[in-house]
Amino acid sequence: MRKEILEGLKTFLSTSRKIVVTNHVNPDGDAMGSANALSALLRKEGHETNVIVPNDYPHFLKWLPGSDEVVVFDENASKAEKILVEAEMVIVLDYNALHRSGPMLGVLENFSGKFLMIDHHQQPGEFAEWIVSDTSKCSTAQMVYEFAEDLELLDGLTKEVAENLYTGIVTDTGSFRFSSTTAQTHRIVANLLEAGVQPDQVYNNVFDANSVSRFKLLGNMLDHMQVYQEKSSVILYLSNEAQKELGFRKGDSEGFVNYGLSLEGITFSVFIREEEGYCKVSLRSKGDLDVNQISRNNFNGGGHKNAAGGLVEKDLAGTIEIAQKVINTL
Ligand code: 5GP
Ligand code: MN
Repeated sequence: MRKEILEGLKTFLSTSRKIVVTNHVNPDGDAMGSANALSALLRKEGHETNVIVPNDYPHFLKWLPGSDEVVVFDENASKAEKILVEAEMVIVLDYNALHRSGPMLGVLENFSGKFLMIDHHQQPGEFAEWIVSDTSKCSTAQMVYEFAEDLELLDGLTKEVAENLYTGIVTDTGSFRFSSTTAQTHRIVANLLEAGVQPDQVYNNVFDANSVSRFKLLGNMLDHMQVYQEKSSVILYLSNEAQKELGFRKGDSEGFVNYGLSLEGITFSVFIREEEGYCKVSLRSKGDLDVNQISRNNFNGGGHKNAAGGLVEKDLAGTIEIAQKVINTL
């Protein structure tokens, strides 16, 4: 962290503050783990903290310590707005452009206190007073750990905090396999284990929590996959109809895009999930192919070089067509 940011934050946090910790729409393991952990660490220091998330998050993250206190904005907007009006600082985690807050955009645009951003996505926006941005980091959870270290908050590293940070790291690194996983990541993880994390329990809660509907949807997706071997690419999709028929629940398709990359010889995977009037797109690559740029150019989105997402206001056929065009240019 830059010295002036550290000094500024230390001064700001030297008195008790009202702080809201928030993350991106459709929060994932990194977003939730980071938020619960940072909120608990700051509370231990005497700040009044609340976690407010834009919308609901998957059932396999509801066991995370602190979950029972999380305010879901689009389910309880009046409570969330009351907390935000009184807040002196909003910490945005795991995103770097305000529109990624989805239903919270309006209230965050009008927020008059200070913003702190901690994030590892590319091309950060400039809305925050303090920006801690590093695209080389595997996860926001790792950045929260390092932030806590810099601000001397690690006295509060309880088992509960460690479980949240571990979950953020394990989910965003694909269980420590993505290239952003470093020796430093493992050193931090070692400290989290010493703080009481039991990896088998986390794994069981997060990854062995598949629903029957998820398995049926996975079968449907694999049945229809389009493989472009000569382009080292694959298109995967779930139609709106299939989701209705097979009982899609939020989070059921989390990680489906990675199945494409697990095919031999495939280095570019597109996963499309159709909704009423639009499609959500997930992109993954191995090596040099920059899917952040592909998403910005074609799918109104963004993300990281090897993992990005976006949204297209077209039906499934129209979105598949865009993906095919992208693949043709490779
Ligand atoms: P996922 O495919 O898991 O939804 O997202 C992969 C990455 O791309 C995540 O880091 C996420 O923050 C980013 N991402 C996903 N959807 C969008 C989007 O609609 N817009 C932007 N800017 N980034 C996205
Ligand atoms: Mn992340």
